[in-house]
Amino acid sequence: MHTTLWQNVLSVISRSIDTNRFETWFRPLTLIHGDDPVSISISAPNQYIADFLEQHYKHLIISTAKQFSPEIENLSITITNKSSIENEPVVVTSHDNIVPKYEASSFPQLNKRFTLDKFVVGPNNQFARSAALAVSDSPGKTKFNPLLIYGGVGLGKTHLLQSIGNYVLNNSPKYIVSYITSEEFYLNFIDAIKNNSTKKFTAKFRSSDLLLMDDVQFFAGKESTQEEFFYIFNTLYQNGKQIVLTSDLPPSSLMGLQDRLISRFQWGLSVDIQPPDLETRVAILKKKAEEDNLSISQDILYYIAENVSSNIRELEGVVIHLLAYASITKSDVTIDLVRSVLKENSKPQKTKLSIDKVIDKVADYYKVPVNNIREKNRRKEVAHCRQVAMYISKIMTNNSLKTIGLNFGGRDHSTVIHAVQQIESLKDKDTSIAKDIDYIISSLNN
Ligand code: ADP
Ligand code: MG
Repeated sequence: MHTTLWQNVLSVISRSIDTNRFETWFRPLTLIHGDDPVSISISAPNQYIADFLEQHYKHLIISTAKQFSPEIENLSITITNKSSIENEPVVVTSHDNIVPKYEASSFPQLNKRFTLDKFVVGPNNQFARSAALAVSDSPGKTKFNPLLIYGGVGLGKTHLLQSIGNYVLNNSPKYIVSYITSEEFYLNFIDAIKNNSTKKFTAKFRSSDLLLMDDVQFFAGKESTQEEFFYIFNTLYQNGKQIVLTSDLPPSSLMGLQDRLISRFQWGLSVDIQPPDLETRVAILKKKAEEDNLSISQDILYYIAENVSSNIRELEGVVIHLLAYASITKSDVTIDLVRSVLKENSKPQKTKLSIDKVIDKVADYYKVPVNNIREKNRRKEVAHCRQVAMYISKIMTNNSLKTIGLNFGGRDHSTVIHAVQQIESLKDKDTSIAKDIDYIISSLNN
C-alpha cells in the first residue's frame, strides 16, 4: 500500500470518529510498505492498540481503504515496540516535549487541527470565540475564570477548547496544559483509586497552568469524582491558573452536579455556541472543502448547507464523503453526487445503546440477577452470562474495551478481549449459544 493511500485513509477516518479516539488509536500507527496489493500492513506500538484495532476498527480501515483502492481485502497489524501497557499515562502536553505513549490509559493529546484560525466565526459562536481568544492571550489573568463554553453536540465546543490549548502552547511552550474529557478523568480516577495512586493522578492536574476539561456534564452523579475535581479546581483557581470547561447545558441546568461546583462554574463567564445559520454553514463548508482541495460550486455549497442543518460534524461528514467519491470517480462534485451522498448520510444512525441496557437484557434472558453479572461472581453460569454481556457490549455499543471492563466490576480490558474471543468461538461450535445471542441482539435492536 502506498503512503498517499494510507494518508487518505487516515484523513477520512480522522473526521469520521471522535478526535480523542483517533489520536489514541490511529495517530501512533505506521504503515509498513509491502508488495501485497490486497493487503494493508501496519504496525502498532503495543499489543493493546493492535488488539483494539483488530476488534473495533479493522472493518472501518478496510472499507475506507476500499473507497480509494477497491482491491484491498485484508489488514495485518504487527507490533513495533512491546512497551508495557502498565506504563504511566501522559497527561501533560507541551509542544516541545511531547512524548506520546499511547497506553491503555493514555490521555488524549491536543489535536493540532483544532486551532482558532480553522474555526469559522458566525453570529452563533462569535461571543464564545472572543472569550476563548481573550483567555488564550492571558490565561488566568482575565475575569473569565473559569470560562465555560456550552452548547449542543457537534457545534465546536471541543474545537474551541483545544484551540485555547494550542494557542497557549504556541505562545508559551513551557506552560503545562492538561486536556481531558470528564469521562476519561472519571475512568482514570476510578482506576487510580483501585491502585492507590489518586495522589499521583491528581497531582498532574493540580500542577497545570491551563486545565481544559471537556464535557463536564458527564460528572453528573459521580460524587467522589466531583469531590476530587472540586479540590483541583480550587487549587488552580487560588493559584491564578486558567480553567476552561465545556458542557452541553448552561451551569444552572446541569443536573446531578453538586451545588458548590455549579456555583464555582458561575464565577467566571459562561458562553454558549448556537447552531450555525445558513450563511455560517456555507462558510464552514467552503473552508472544509478548501482544506481538502475539493472544489465545489457556490450553488452546491448552498444546496448542502440548506439540507444539513443539524450540526457541523454532519457538514464535515458530507465533505468527507464527497471527497471520497470524487477521488474514486475522478469527477467533479455534481448535484447528483451530492444528492446521493445526502441520502446516504440521512440513513438512520445506530442508536446509542448503553452497556447497562445490554446487561439488563442478558440478565433478563438468562434469569440471573443484574448484580451477579456486574460483580465478581464466579459461578459458571453467571460467568457465561457475563461473557455474553461483554461480547454484546463490544459489538453493539461504542464503548472502549476499558470502559466495558469497568462496567463489569472493574475488570480490565484483557478480560473483555478474552470474553469476546471465548464467545466467538463458542458461537461457532454451539448453535444453541449462537441462537441465544442472536435473540438477545435482535431484542436490543427493537
Ligand atoms: P462538540 O465538541 O461541540 O460536540 P466539536 O468541537 O467536536 O463539537 O466539532 C465537531 C466538528 O466540527 C469538528 O471537526 C470541528 O472541527 C468542526 N467545527 C465545529 N465548529 C466549527 C467552526 N466554527 N469552524 C470550523 N469547524 C468547526
Ligand atoms: Mg466535544
